[in-house]
Amino acid sequence: MLETSRNFLSQIDNHPISPELENQLLTCDRAIFILHDQLNLSAFPQELLTQKPLLIFVESLAYATAIPHHKQKLVYILSAQRHFAIACHQQGFPVLNLFAESHHANALAEFLERHPKISLTYMQPSEWDTRSQMALIADKFCDRIKSIPNNFFIADIQKFKSKIKKGYRLETFYRELRKQTGYLMEDGKPIGGDWNYDKQNRKSLPKNTPIPEIPEVKTDLITQEVIQLVQTYLPNTFGKLDKFIYAVTREQALELAQLFIATRLANFGAYEDAIKVGEAFLFHSILSIYLNNGLLLPQELCEMAIAAYQKKLAPLNSVEGFVRQILGWREYIRVYYEAQMPEVRESNYFSFTNDLPQLYWDANTDLLCLKDAVSHVLNYGYSHHIQRLMVLSNFSNLTSTDPQQLNKWFWVAYVDAYEWVELPNVLGMSTFADGGILASKPYVSGGNYINKMSNCCSQCKYDVKQKTGEAACPFNYLYWNFVDQHRESFIENGRISLMVNAYEKKSNDEKQAIRDSSINFTNNLK
Ligand code: SF4
Repeated sequence: MLETSRNFLSQIDNHPISPELENQLLTCDRAIFILHDQLNLSAFPQELLTQKPLLIFVESLAYATAIPHHKQKLVYILSAQRHFAIACHQQGFPVLNLFAESHHANALAEFLERHPKISLTYMQPSEWDTRSQMALIADKFCDRIKSIPNNFFIADIQKFKSKIKKGYRLETFYRELRKQTGYLMEDGKPIGGDWNYDKQNRKSLPKNTPIPEIPEVKTDLITQEVIQLVQTYLPNTFGKLDKFIYAVTREQALELAQLFIATRLANFGAYEDAIKVGEAFLFHSILSIYLNNGLLLPQELCEMAIAAYQKKLAPLNSVEGFVRQILGWREYIRVYYEAQMPEVRESNYFSFTNDLPQLYWDANTDLLCLKDAVSHVLNYGYSHHIQRLMVLSNFSNLTSTDPQQLNKWFWVAYVDAYEWVELPNVLGMSTFADGGILASKPYVSGGNYINKMSNCCSQCKYDVKQKTGEAACPFNYLYWNFVDQHRESFIENGRISLMVNAYEKKSNDEKQAIRDSSINFTNNLK
């Protein structure tokens, strides 16, 4: 039985260091620092672990409060780290849990000052700022600190980094990774004959389709204590904490992965772009939460899905779609982040300057598709990918919102968001802020497409069939206004130039009504 984390951690933390641990530190000469998103010892070189070195964890207040992270994200990160530290301790590793007002690196520097016989190894952080901080102390203690490559991804950064430039798109990268791993390959060719099966996907959800429930993981004493901590010390950060449903250990996360494979993977592909009001998860796996802090590894999830296909438990269109999300998209954006940082952080291709509308923070809006998406984010720190793209990012683009503010919001709001994953998705994929390095066009659409893929519009105050005026769906006129305003940027792009031509065919009265409705709506948007 686990005791409360406070009791248990008192054996391993620095408030004060217990006599038992103090004795261990006297004889210890090697330590490994494990970050909150590296919670899996199998990703570390096993030769480093055989002698059971000291494992150091840091709970950094400066990191937790650098941006107003969603309360559930803070609970998840801290609870998962505490569970992992305790599990390592139970496996016989000496474990030190450092509490720090400042950044992780400062806490480690102080520790190294106090323990001059100890050398430290750390795995390269996936986030830029943490890596920069660690590089500073690595310089200071150069003969005692060693870094090893980050092993939580599949693609070799050095091999692909220089290729990320205009024209090296996801599809080429994905095919190379499929060949490299042999996933869904047979005799050097893709299984089924095609590299992707999107034509069979992107279906809207038939009315009474049953959606399997995702079980809520019962919170234990450790998580309850962390919830208390966040509620007490960080009450004003974003989001609600009425209900916390996520796994916090590898065992729990693996159970959820197996359940996804058994009950939702088969329908994942067909309905991956569907939206249903009130359903936060549909057939999505929500395993990104566990992938992005190391509880689950990308290879094992791909292999579980492929095994399900081989046992005929899930069709190829779903399995390939799932593998592409992990092996293709997740790996691709991580290489992009490595190649484009830090300059990409400042990118803003359209020079948009409007503030992120208040509705992103409180869901207070009559646009039902937006209200539904933001409500899920408030409740769970999560909404599935097509709500992120087709609703939240789309609306931000159509209202000329500063992409940096949208980028920051995604980072704050989502339990699975770390800078390496949300920045390429927002500044590259959805807003075109990088000017087309990652995507060939900005993600914009009118209300018709949202209507096609969701059941939102039939219940919304706005009329998706009306094109302009107060009762019309704002996505409709804002979309055409966007095409008009940014035509020069798109005239070279085949698909978009079609839309420019379609706009040009509208009558002058229609064009004026689009402009008037857009100005009126945007002026009244808080
Ligand atoms: Fe969203 Fe427009 Fe549909 Fe309302 S009518 S749900 S605003 S797309």
